[in-house]
This record gives sequence, structure tokens and C-alpha cells, in this order.
Amino acid sequence: MVEIKYLTGFRPKMSIRTKLILSFSLAVLIPLLLLAVANTYLFRNQTKKESLDKVRITLSGAERIYYSQANRLKGAFQIVSYNPYFINAVIHDNKKFLESSIKSHKAAFRFATFIGITDKNGFIAASTDGAKKFKPSLDGLLLKSFKSGFPIVKTAIIRKSDLMRMNIKISNSESNMFLVTAVPLLQNGRSIGVIFGLIDLNGNSYMPETIYNEYHLKTAVFASLFNRQVCLTTLKIPGNIFGVGSRLPENIHNKIMTGKDFIEEMNYNSETVFAAFHPVKDIKGRVIGSIAVFISNRRYIAIFKKTAEYAVFIILIGLIISLAISYFASRDTLNPIFAIKSAIKDFTSGDLDAKLIIKTNDEFEDIGKGFTEMAMTVKDREERMGKYNTFSDFLVGSLDFDKIISSTLDILEELLNLSSGIIYIYDKEGRISPEDFAGYGRPPAANEKDEGKNEEGFLIPWRFYGIRKFAANKFISSEGIAGHCFKKRKTIWFHDIPENAVMLKDKLLEKDGAGMAMDYGFCEVFPKDIVWLPLYIGEADIGVLMVASIRGFKNEDIAFLEHAVKELSVSLDNAKIHKKINELSITDELTGLYNRRKMDEVLESEFNEAKRYGNPLSVMILDLDHFKSINDFYGHKAGDVVLSGIGELLTQNIRNIDIATRYGGEEFVIILPQTDFKNAVSAAKKLKNLVRNYKFEQIEREVTVSIGVASMPDDKINSVDDILKIADNFLYDAKNSGRNRIIGSYKGERIEIEKDDGNNDAPGIID
Ligand code: GH3
Ligand code: MG
Ligand code: MG
Repeated sequence: MVEIKYLTGFRPKMSIRTKLILSFSLAVLIPLLLLAVANTYLFRNQTKKESLDKVRITLSGAERIYYSQANRLKGAFQIVSYNPYFINAVIHDNKKFLESSIKSHKAAFRFATFIGITDKNGFIAASTDGAKKFKPSLDGLLLKSFKSGFPIVKTAIIRKSDLMRMNIKISNSESNMFLVTAVPLLQNGRSIGVIFGLIDLNGNSYMPETIYNEYHLKTAVFASLFNRQVCLTTLKIPGNIFGVGSRLPENIHNKIMTGKDFIEEMNYNSETVFAAFHPVKDIKGRVIGSIAVFISNRRYIAIFKKTAEYAVFIILIGLIISLAISYFASRDTLNPIFAIKSAIKDFTSGDLDAKLIIKTNDEFEDIGKGFTEMAMTVKDREERMGKYNTFSDFLVGSLDFDKIISSTLDILEELLNLSSGIIYIYDKEGRISPEDFAGYGRPPAANEKDEGKNEEGFLIPWRFYGIRKFAANKFISSEGIAGHCFKKRKTIWFHDIPENAVMLKDKLLEKDGAGMAMDYGFCEVFPKDIVWLPLYIGEADIGVLMVASIRGFKNEDIAFLEHAVKELSVSLDNAKIHKKINELSITDELTGLYNRRKMDEVLESEFNEAKRYGNPLSVMILDLDHFKSINDFYGHKAGDVVLSGIGELLTQNIRNIDIATRYGGEEFVIILPQTDFKNAVSAAKKLKNLVRNYKFEQIEREVTVSIGVASMPDDKINSVDDILKIADNFLYDAKNSGRNRIIGSYKGERIEIEKDDGNNDAPGIID
């Protein structure tokens, strides 16, 4: 027995298809994923980081410039605040002096949008013409400086109304953020006013060209948004993707308004350009615009090259992973295939015990189980076929009716593991019964009153086992389930009989609608399944086979049984015919006695036996006297009646071991084994008297016989022919001596018994 195994550890329950799809997908996807991660994550993040860093550096640079401007203003204002003329001018409200001073400052510090002086009541002087007198709050910065007596530099949002009063024209009506520089004007340590300057942080001047130049930022755009979404300043932006004053695309505007840094990929002259945007917020956190840096694809290519270097490495890792996945996938597909291949090879080369064990938790595992099951089934079939062939061969080879029946039950019991079995033989008269039931139990005597009384005939339990004796009785062939099976010539199969079933009536009713019942105690062991199968061939009804199993039958068992009963029927029919032919060939039809052929056979074997053991053996030849004249007088038919009557007389009045045969015409030979001359003469006398006293039908006269007797041991008898010849000679002698007598010889002396004296012995003749 070969056991082929492919055992694995844990495997997820997954079909081969899923496994393959998953493996190949993973093999392709993992490297791609790694590439994608490398591309997007490494490359983009690096780009973004670099770009945004640049933006932030720029911004902080810009901020520093603004603050240095503001500090320059602060220095100038402080100088003014120490000037007693200036302080006096403020005290005396010398507007003319103050305005000219402020305007000269404004001219000196062009970056300042506005310069003014205010006291606690309001404006005194402004750098712009037409500025109205008002009390500016400037977010309280001026007041704070005024009260504290210290200079302040800080950004502030200035109300539009205030800007209008100051007559400040700003490019963007929404932009009102300014860097405020306020220096208090003191007299004897007491604030009398504030000189202040405003640097517009929102307008065109927010990021003067000098900033870019100073920081060598070659490509940048400054976008001030709010509702205008326009590009304010561009510096060497490739192809002016955003020209000055051009409208920003909606999506970019929306992204800027989220307040988060982002990178935008754009196309310019079929070149990819990356723009890193950094939104700019006012002090209240509102997004007021953004600064962006552009990086051309030359930079991109450089980064990409770096990524490509990574990619080779990544692809190599991906390839290794793919190979590993492919290996594991193929291991669980190829190895089981190899296992299946070698199992098939073993199986086809005749090893029906081949087992295939695959543990992959997928279809291969099922195939393995299926293969082993198939091998077992084939083996089982093979074994069955072997047994069946033996059975079949036996059936073909046997002509012995009883042996066929008993062997059939034996073989079926072994093949199908039967718990009970019975073969009923059909007989019209119900008289036949099996003689030898050794080992099978003997059926009860046939029910006398049924005998020969019904038209249907009888089913006689010929052989059985596992059946309770009281149940194994003969019955009318149309009764019961066996009768139903017999009459309808069809298989009846009771399947899965419930254990608590008392009567099977209901079950049968269900099946055939016939009201037949079977006592459950029929079988010695209560079976799970019972099957009745009809035995018949052509017109000839043979009987019924019933088998029961406590394990139950499979469909193939039933198919097998149905096939087996056909062969069995043929065999039984053959055996019957053979028996009949055999009997015919050795029987004389008229008298029912054995014929001359059988006589020769029996005499030969009896002679040999007597010779070998020195046993006595006698033979008598009996011939009717003047039979010719009986024929002539009463007719040939009447003569026949006499002959058949003689046959019956002989049959009934000889011992079991004696054999009466019709030797020819009206001559009979009776072989008497173990019988010496004296006893042979007794038997001859008895027969002679019986015939003479018998009243044959239609025959008015006495019928007599002449008998010649020969007995062994006798020195003159050396062969079968001798013994017959001697008996025949004595018969001839008897005829010549007047008939109706017995002649033989005892110890070499001729003995003649002429007439019947009523005594069976032969006094005076023998001893
Ligand atoms: P015996 O033997 O006493 O000398 O006289 P027999 O009349 O019996 O003489 P034989 O043996 O010559 O005649 C035998 C007769 O038996 C001849 C034949 O017609 C008759 N016979 C032989 N076989 C049958 C038979 O089967 N049926 C009938 N009815 N007659 C038979
Ligand atoms: Mg004769
Ligand atoms: Mg005769």
C-alpha cells in the first residue's frame, strides 16, 4: 500500500482560483505599490518640503525687511521727538511746521504709506493732502504709545473709514493691514502726542522687488486674494502662468483659502512645473493671500533621477517578494499536482490501496479525499467482483439444486454482510420439501390441509439462516411480502426500517398500497433493511430470495442482488432441468423403476463392493408368466397396467437399499445388496406371492411370475455378467420347469421352490 502525502501547516480556507489571483495580484501590486509610495511619498514630499522651506525663508526674510523699515521710521521719529522745536510746534499746534516736517519724512521714507502726528484730541498733521481731522484709534496702538510713553512697532488692521479720513488710497480695497510705527512725543516726561507711520502690508508694495533680489528667489508669485483672486506680482514665473493681475484658477484659490500649504502640478510648454503655495494670514488668522514658489521640471528631473535610483532598488525588493509569493503559490499548486500524479500512477499500476493525503485546505484537499475514496470504492468493487465471479463460476459449474441454494446464501452472506437470508422455492403442489437442512434448521412440516388445495401454489423455505423457525413456514405463493414480490416479479426493498417498528404493514402500504404485513420477529436480529427479490426465468417461476442486513443496503448492493438473482434463477432452472433429464435417462416411464442402464451401473458398483469386502450379494430376475396371452386377451393397455402395478409392488415391498429395475419388456432385475441366497429366496417368495395375490385392474385371472436367483459368494461368479447369466439361466430353468416358481442354487445344489406354501422360509431346501 502506498500512501502519498502532501502535508502543510496552516492554510486559509481558500479556493485555488482565489489563491492564484491573489498571488499574481500581490506579485504585481507590491512592487507597484512600493514604486508609487516612493514616487508620491518620497519624491513629492521632498519637493514640497524644499519648496515650502524656500517660501517660509522668503517670508521671514520679507518680514525682516519690513521690520527694518519700521525700525528705520522709529529711529527717525525718535530723533524728532527729542527736538524741542518740534515739541513746541506740537504744543502750539504749528501745523505748517509739522506738515512740512512730516512731508519731508515721507519723502525720505518712500516705503511708508502714511506719516502723521496726533495728540489726544486727534490729528494735527498728515503726510497726505486732504486728510481730515479725526481721532484715530489705530487699534489703540497710538493710545497705548501715548499713555505708556514708549514707542511701538506692530501690525494692525486699520478701519476703512479711518483710511478714508487719512486719505490713504490702497490698491486693494480689502487690504487694510499695516505695519504701524508709533513714537510718543514727550514734554517734561508727559505725552503730548504721537508721531506715527503706516507701511501698507497688503498692496503692491508688500513684497518689493528688492526682497526677491536680495534673497535670489528667481521664481515667485505673490497672490493677494480675497474676492479678487488675482495675481499681484510675478517674478520670472515661467511663461507667466499667472500674469500680474490675472485671475487665479478657482481650484487654486479654494486651496489657498483652506490656509494649508500645498503643491500644485502645472503644465507649461509641455513641461511639468511644481508650485508650492503657502497661504498668508492676517493677525486674526484670516487668509489674505499666499506666496508661491515655482520649481521647473529641470529640478523635477533631478529629483526624479534620484527617485529612479531608489526605484531600481525597490523593484529588486519587489522582485524578491514576487518570487517568494510565486514560490509559495506554486508550492501549494504544483506539489499537490505531483502528489496526484504519482498516486494515479500507483493506482493505475494496480495498487488499489493507494491513498492520497493532501492538506491544503482547498480543492486539492478535496481531490485527495476524492481519490482515496475512489480507490477504496474501486478496491471494494474489485473485491466484490472477485467474489461475484467466484459465485458466478460456482453457479455455472454446479448442477446441484440444493448446493446452489445453500452456497448462494453463504456467498451472499459473506459479500453483503447479511444478518438473515432465505430462499423460497415455488412448488405448485406444496409437497416437495428439502430433505437436508443440516446447519440451516429444518422447516416445520408442511401444513397438511394446505396441500394441493390452492391454485396459486406454495413458496417453500428451502434454505435459511437468521430466521426464526416459527416464521420459516411454507405459505401460499400470493401471500405476504415474499408472495407479493413473487407474483409481481419485482424487488421489494424496505429501507431504514424504524427500530420501533412492530409491523411493517404501514411501510408496505405506503409503497404498493397492498395490505400485506410482516411480523417484525421474522428475523432473529432486527434488520435495518430487508430485500425480497423474485427468482424467475422466462415463464418459469422459481421462487424468492430474501436477505436482511443490520447495516442496511446501498443502491449498488441492490443492483448487485438483482443481477445475482438472475444468474441464480438460470442456474436453479438448469439444475432442475438437469435433474429431470438425469432422472428420465435412468428411469423407466411405465413402471417408475430404474431402467436397464441404471441397473448396469448399480450392479457393477455393488458387485465390486461385494467382491472387495466379501459381502453377500443377490440378484433376481423376475419374468411374468404367459404375459403374451394377457396382452392378447385383455389388450396391450391392460398389459401396461399390469406392468406399472408390478413396478409399484416392487417399489413398495423391497428394502431401501434394494434396487428394482425394469430389465426389459416384462422382465425385472432386483439387486439385493448385503443379501445371501437364503434371504434372497425369502424376498423372491414374498414378491412372487404378492404378485399372485394382487388384483390387477381389468385382469380377471391370477398373474404369476417366474424368478431366477443368483447369490454371491459363489465360486462360479467372477464377473457382473456371470451373476446375471446365472440368474437368467435359473429363470429359463423355472420357465421350463412349469413357471410360477423360484429357482436358484445353494452351495452348488439346485434349489426349486415350486409353489407358495405361505411360509417365507424354504424348509427342506435351505439347511
Ligand atoms: P413366458 O414368459 O411365460 O414364456 O411367456 P410370455 O408370453 O411372457 O413369453 P414372452 O416372454 O416371449 O413374451 C413377452 C411378451 O411381453 C411379448 C410382448 O408382447 C409383451 N410385452 C413386452 N413388453 C411389453 C410392454 O411394455 N407392454 C405390454 N403390454 N406388453 C409387453
Ligand atoms: Mg420375457
Ligand atoms: Mg414372460
